[in-house]
Amino acid sequence: MAENGTIADIFQSVLVRNPGETEFHQAVGEVFESLDRVLDKHPEYVEASILERVCEPERQIIFRVPWVDDRGRVQINRGFRVQFNSALGPYKGGLRFHPSVLLGTVKFLGFEQIFKNALTGMPIGGGKGGSDFDPKGKSDAEVMRFCQSFMTELHRHIGEYTDVPAGDIGVGRREIGYLFGQYKRITNRYESGVLTGKGITWGGSLMRTEATGYGAVYFTQHMLETRGMSFDGLDVLVSGSGNVAIYSIEKVHALGGKVVGASDSSGSVYDPAGIDVELLRDVKEQRRARIDQYVAERPGATFLPGERVWQIAREHRVSVALPSATQNELDDADAKLLIDAGVVAVAEGANMPTTPAATALFRQAGVLFGPGKAANAGGVATSALEMQQNASRDSWGAEYTDARLAEIMQGIHERCAETADEYGAPGDYVLGANIAGFLRVADAMLA
Ligand code: GLU
Repeated sequence: MAENGTIADIFQSVLVRNPGETEFHQAVGEVFESLDRVLDKHPEYVEASILERVCEPERQIIFRVPWVDDRGRVQINRGFRVQFNSALGPYKGGLRFHPSVLLGTVKFLGFEQIFKNALTGMPIGGGKGGSDFDPKGKSDAEVMRFCQSFMTELHRHIGEYTDVPAGDIGVGRREIGYLFGQYKRITNRYESGVLTGKGITWGGSLMRTEATGYGAVYFTQHMLETRGMSFDGLDVLVSGSGNVAIYSIEKVHALGGKVVGASDSSGSVYDPAGIDVELLRDVKEQRRARIDQYVAERPGATFLPGERVWQIAREHRVSVALPSATQNELDDADAKLLIDAGVVAVAEGANMPTTPAATALFRQAGVLFGPGKAANAGGVATSALEMQQNASRDSWGAEYTDARLAEIMQGIHERCAETADEYGAPGDYVLGANIAGFLRVADAMLA
């Protein structure tokens, strides 16, 4: 039996040993909250200190990234790779390039990734990396020089059987291309499986770009089905306008729903006729412009400068919310707004976008709540499919790959729902995801 206070003691030691890493504390706290009943059933995990072990990354790499800007000046950024847990397979997880990235950010993301990857049922461990480099406003050549310098150090720590990075915020196909080129040049190996999110002509998988957004919508669809509902006719808010948001919007529309709001760091757009995905993609991906450009070219749409997209719920009833931008972007005030506006389901397309207080409000109000570990796992799952294709020197068609993704999302939904039932909390996807993910990792660690 777990002694009373054991989890609290371990959590206290995580706080003390990782000072100032508030996002990491939050991510650990959210998982620990679900685990007392697990430790009661599994004294062997307590015996083997699984909880203490799982909070300590296997390896953390911090490095200097010098690069030359277009004016010929040397700029310095900090690079990170946290290799958190390899019980289930090689470390797997994205790279985030954003000025807010600190070690604690990478650790929170790496910690989440362990359980997310476990939930997919695929043989991938958990890791994450990134840099405080800001790609915004940088020329192509600057981004390339940064990526080359970043990989000049990173290459000695990764490999198809060791650690397989991919994209995250600020890292898309362009950056993966520069990184892969440098890896190939330094190692003299065409090691396709060392990175995922590659371009289709050089080892990438069809559907990888769409996967996180599509997967989040598939997961939401399964949650809605448990209440006899579907997306058909539902109004939806999506935060963000990056890759996750864009493909979530596309899939919601394909399923008969209507997304009436999206956002970026400058503000939100309200488009009661439904977001025009092609225009949004053109503004954000092709032109790399701010989202007010969308409004300039779209009659009937309005721009809400500096506002979160959830504010739209003040004037527009919505049934589904898909926070798909970044961590802690939906707080308790936003949750109240959404609950008052009639929200039935919330699924996290981003990692930890909902604050603990907001999550608690949704759960108390009986809103179907899909945590990121489950809802956004389609991205990394399709990365694992990319690794399979690379390992077999094959490339699959879009239809087959999408079918695999849909099947994986259905499996994750079932695993969460069944685990929640088994642990006496039917419909609680937070508990289901945390416990199901943890059990798979803990068993492998124990073995
Ligand atoms: N960055 C994504 C995530 O948060 C994808 C990681 C990957 O494909 O390895 O899961």
